Amino acid sequence: MELKLEDDSLHDDVLAQLEALPLAPERPLIVSDADEVIFAFVRSLEGFLLDNGHFLDLQSFALSGNIRDSTSGEPVSAELVKALIGAFFDQRTEQIEPVDGAADALAVLSKRAQILVLSNVPLDRRTARRRALVKHGMDYPLVANIGRKGGAMAYLMARQKAPVFFLDDIPHNIASVARVAAAVTRLHFIADHRLRDLLGAAEDADARIDDWPGVRRFIETRLSEQGY
Ligand SMILES: [Mg+2]
Repeated sequence: MELKLEDDSLHDDVLAQLEALPLAPERPLIVSDADEVIFAFVRSLEGFLLDNGHFLDLQSFALSGNIRDSTSGEPVSAELVKALIGAFFDQRTEQIEPVDGAADALAVLSKRAQILVLSNVPLDRRTARRRALVKHGMDYPLVANIGRKGGAMAYLMARQKAPVFFLDDIPHNIASVARVAAAVTRLHFIADHRLRDLLGAAEDADARIDDWPGVRRFIETRLSEQGY
């Protein structure tokens, strides 16, 4: 699906998943992205590419342009990048390793807040991703989002009375949330050490934190300050 630069709308398939969530408006809500926040996406993708005749040459915070053919060394087309990522999710969603400290931090935070995973995993891989979350001690609800994340966060924010937090590695998702759900506290998080060095803090983030103990402390402090 091709998205406009500032398309913050909510897809019907996402709305249906959101409507099915048991939400408690009076309880704080932490909404976390999965890839590169809870799961070590890039590291796993790298292994998949090597197994399939390609390699990742991270020159920028992007996959397009940075996936190369192992034989020629040339970057592959945007179509092939898309196909490789699709194949990766088809074959390896359940095998992606978690990011250090994610499960522990979320377990502590879940005593004070609701946890929701909002991931742009393909809809048909949602069950596999849920299994991976459970396997790694993160049995939290999962919504498979489509497109930018502002629409989903606006939906949630409109129903919450207690503070809402949002974590993502991709600046355009953080910008989208800032546009349509500005009251959400936005954390910019990039797990992979190489990727994090390629990108500064997202302009629309309230904080840039790249480790889970740091996220836990930040959210705990904010919750205490607000009497939660
Ligand atoms: Mg991500």
